[in-house]
Amino acid sequence: MKQLINYLMAILASAMLLPPVYADAQWPQVHRYVSIAGWSVNSYIVEGQNQVVIIDGQLLNQDAKKLSALINSIGKPVAAGIITHPHSDHFAGFSKLQNQLGEFPIYASKATQSHMPVFHKQFLNGFGKSMASDITTSLAPTQIVKTGQTLIFDNIKFHFDDLGPGEAENNLIIYLPEKQWLFTGDITMNHGYYYVGEGRSFDVLRQYDYLKANYANTNMVFSGHGEIGRFDIIDTHIEQVSQMRKLTLAAIKQQGLSKPLTKKAKQILINDLMTQYPGLMDYGLSAKQILSWNIYALEKELRNDLLRDLAVKQDN
Ligand SMILES: [Zn+2]
Repeated sequence: MKQLINYLMAILASAMLLPPVYADAQWPQVHRYVSIAGWSVNSYIVEGQNQVVIIDGQLLNQDAKKLSALINSIGKPVAAGIITHPHSDHFAGFSKLQNQLGEFPIYASKATQSHMPVFHKQFLNGFGKSMASDITTSLAPTQIVKTGQTLIFDNIKFHFDDLGPGEAENNLIIYLPEKQWLFTGDITMNHGYYYVGEGRSFDVLRQYDYLKANYANTNMVFSGHGEIGRFDIIDTHIEQVSQMRKLTLAAIKQQGLSKPLTKKAKQILINDLMTQYPGLMDYGLSAKQILSWNIYALEKELRNDLLRDLAVKQDN
């Protein structure tokens, strides 16, 4: 018995010696809403003691309604909405959210604010046409945030960093220093086929270098699509994007710079990538679809790089 008491006392003593990491850590909490119909896009509700902040606002009205219901069940007013980048799946639903929850300020970078209407118009006229009846077209107004700015909502610090163009025309990250939480938008798509369909794979790799140099102490990474993960998911993204670049470059060199990649060459590339990365998330589209967009854009980007390098060589 005495042994047991000593044992329990020892446990108690060691518990008291632990640093009070979690002593005041009740707030913030985070809730994640994932769309099924709208490309598995994530919205995060950062809940403080009295208010909530929404990071990314969904694409479809059906999802915005469900997200509103979740926020209503928390029962706290919305202090702010934040848009990470100018792709419709991250901002279009904010109109419906304001319609359901009342007005609240919405923050974005300057570049995201100016690219939102351009992207949204193209999207509704093209790929988004079939979904248009469930998308509100009027865009939510935004307030501008800049790199280095920290805003405080409900005693929680939100630090903003504009990482410039990459997966989208602009990508903003949000860091919560007290928790060491990093909200990356689509700079990461945890365990998914990474999208480089806008032809900026080099910029994407540059953003990863920047994150590794500046945010390596991150505890949790909250991606625009895919599961919440640890910081080492950045390495998996670097590996995948580098590999897509490497294989596409090899195919271009094999084919010769004077001719575009044949349909067959592209198909071989897609099959290679599907074999190397089986079973990754495809956002409800298909692996083939995402990879064919990627190959199309990578061919263009890398061909331009090669031609520029050749021009530089000839100049010298
Ligand atoms: Zn997205």
